[in-house]
Amino acid sequence: MDEADTKLRKAGGRLCCICNQRRAALKRPKTLEQICRECFYEVFEEEIHQVIVDNQLFKPGERIAIGASGGKDSTVLAYVLSELNRRHNYGLDLFLLSVDEGITGYRDDSLETVKRNEMQYGLPLKIVSYKDLYGWTMDEIVKMIGLKNNCTFCGVFRRQALDRGASLLEVDKLATGHNADDIAETILLNILRGDIARLSRCTSITTGEDGPIPRCKPFKYTYEKEIMFTYAYFKRLDYFSTECIYSPNAYRGFAREFIKDLERIRPRAILDIIKSGENFRIATSTKMPEQGTCERCGYISSQKWCKACVLLEGLNRGLPKLGIGRNKGLNNGRKKDVKQTSGTKSIESKQCGTLDF
Ligand code: SF4
Repeated sequence: MDEADTKLRKAGGRLCCICNQRRAALKRPKTLEQICRECFYEVFEEEIHQVIVDNQLFKPGERIAIGASGGKDSTVLAYVLSELNRRHNYGLDLFLLSVDEGITGYRDDSLETVKRNEMQYGLPLKIVSYKDLYGWTMDEIVKMIGLKNNCTFCGVFRRQALDRGASLLEVDKLATGHNADDIAETILLNILRGDIARLSRCTSITTGEDGPIPRCKPFKYTYEKEIMFTYAYFKRLDYFSTECIYSPNAYRGFAREFIKDLERIRPRAILDIIKSGENFRIATSTKMPEQGTCERCGYISSQKWCKACVLLEGLNRGLPKLGIGRNKGLNNGRKKDVKQTSGTKSIESKQCGTLDF
């Protein structure tokens, strides 16, 4: 034991297990190592850099939009990607892309955070709104449909809004702040819902390569606790932490709580769920949806009309439940008065609740 170690131990401190010089400031949620802040910043950022390099997420010269909600994940993503881009000469042009769902008292406030991030990180910001794209705000939709299924509308519209915003920015890729906890939760939900098509692709670090704009998740293996309670907190990043006022999503909430319980007992559980998801082999007899384009708006769709057009048609016709659930609505060849159903199986678009995009 050297002199510095002895002094620290006498003062009741513990040395960082990486540099063995500075006082440990935290126990890493992912590995339970006791480390100092400086070493934490370094390993946190370098792990993300390694994920980017190993998975070839970006190519030099690419234009990348960062899905920015003002929440902790996307704020940390914007900050870390800017840092890594400079430090490792990725040669990327980075942009912030936000969606204004039209939720008074929530998104208007969080967008103010994104506007500050635009100045703080020097990244150009583009905001696309549901009102401009679809003619409806979420406030208006909730007024019509109530608080059941609102996240289905929001999730479907957001997915398409991000693609439309990305194409306006003429970017090559969209990077989102989905973290390891989100991925583990989505794997679990897809198993619980028997959604094999989504199960087979929800673990991919890059998706949509056959669509208009590929999406990637640089935080695929990054723990939420490290993003929020550690990195964002220690770095004093400016993010918005209020939950959406329309966030019901009880089913996803149960899955989330279950994963948090597992993590408390065994921190590796999150990575192990992801690993299991990555190694699932989907039976060749499983019918997968065929990708085409929506006859109405031209957006990618495995049906005659894309989900956003079906939902929009329902809203505009005063039949808001049209298209909720599987195999219902206009795509089933039923032109009107479709039997209304409740519940949804669509979780691809990260129906957020407390989550970022
Ligand atoms: Fe939209 Fe998320 Fe709010 Fe649901 S919780 S209404 S998906 S912002």
